Amino acid sequence: MAGYRLTLPTIQNWNCHSCAGCCRQHAIEVTAEERERIAGQNWTAADGVDPSRPLWVASGPPWARTWRLAHQQDGGCVFLNEDGLCRIHAKFGEAAKPLACRIYPYAFHPAGKEVRVSLRYSCPSVVENRGDAVDEQPGELKRTARLVVPDDVSHIPPPPVAGRQRVDWPDFLRLVDALEDTLAGPEGTIIHRLLQACFWLKLAGGAKYDDIRGDRIDELAELLQQEAEYQFPADSPLADIAAPSRTGRIQFRLLVARHARKDTAAEASPGWRQKWSLLRAALKFSAGRGTMPVLQPGLEPVQFEQLEPAFGGLPPGAEDLFTRYFRIKVQGLHFCGAAFYNMPLVEGFYSLATMLPIVLYLARWLAAGEQRNQLTLPDVRRALAMADHHFGYLPDFGQRGMRRAVRLFAASDDLTRLIAWYSR
Ligand code: SF4
Repeated sequence: MAGYRLTLPTIQNWNCHSCAGCCRQHAIEVTAEERERIAGQNWTAADGVDPSRPLWVASGPPWARTWRLAHQQDGGCVFLNEDGLCRIHAKFGEAAKPLACRIYPYAFHPAGKEVRVSLRYSCPSVVENRGDAVDEQPGELKRTARLVVPDDVSHIPPPPVAGRQRVDWPDFLRLVDALEDTLAGPEGTIIHRLLQACFWLKLAGGAKYDDIRGDRIDELAELLQQEAEYQFPADSPLADIAAPSRTGRIQFRLLVARHARKDTAAEASPGWRQKWSLLRAALKFSAGRGTMPVLQPGLEPVQFEQLEPAFGGLPPGAEDLFTRYFRIKVQGLHFCGAAFYNMPLVEGFYSLATMLPIVLYLARWLAAGEQRNQLTLPDVRRALAMADHHFGYLPDFGQRGMRRAVRLFAASDDLTRLIAWYSR
């Protein structure tokens, strides 16, 4: 029996609806054992698997080589059939598939005596909240967790709160739960609540935790929450917040460009031609003028300038979607520690908060591509799936340059400004 309690999200539904999006969008890494097992399944042309094509491809240098499932010419996994179903699953059952396919879209994050469960919003069914309540599927989730979480994970320490400030897991989770309370409301919009959360967490990051423990953490969080509500009252107009700085916008567009790409098979190991086109795209995003480069289907070559005027605020339904998204990521610890480039709580939350303007920028791009200057819920849903595809999974985001950009947003108030600016 596992030595941990599984903490399931209470506000999320999900079942697989066989859209096969994950089998087209994701590069599926396979271990040596999985390669051996799949090779032993003896796939032939009679099964619909082209014997002249490899089943997997290598990536990375020889000393850190990894393998992933090959893709067909249309981008789908080599085992995806014409009906959008998995051939391995159909022939040998669910357990015969690579581990990554069996777990998706769940993510499991140890937190002392419990393991918190989050979900990836790259899955359209997660975004649309389709299916059975996740907390009504404990048996299924326990079986899935056992595939990836060892029995004893209580020795794994929590990430720092900020810098070198550390507390134990119960106190760390007090801060996390307070953060989720702020995001849950009920006062104000999710934009106000996100601004409040960024504000008080920044102050919490400056505290010294040597003498602050237990109930005093709750008291501190409550005090800071009150100050945040005073700074960003639920009825305060966002238009009063200044526009982002020029430097902030440049850094922001470069971040958007990374989220607008797909990690298709081609991008996992780009050739020179592709590297050159990525460099040109980065230069264009840095300049932020003229026609936007096409980074994936649906993001049309509109003008950068088209995305800057007000787009009429969040469309109906987006408030609930963003509230659920941020609460799931926070509840599930999907924004800090081992789940997120080993970032401390405060820095990881800045990255999570940056997702709001990134998603709204991508949604504007989708809308402008259809000659609209107002967002719809499908724009926001699609943009969220695109952006969350990378959140926590693209190695670049854990590197110094990207981390510094997000820290600078937070230190200079550009994070607040970007959130307000793209929510108009
Ligand atoms: S192995 Fe099956 S489930 Fe996994 S990506 Fe390929 S088709 Fe999809």
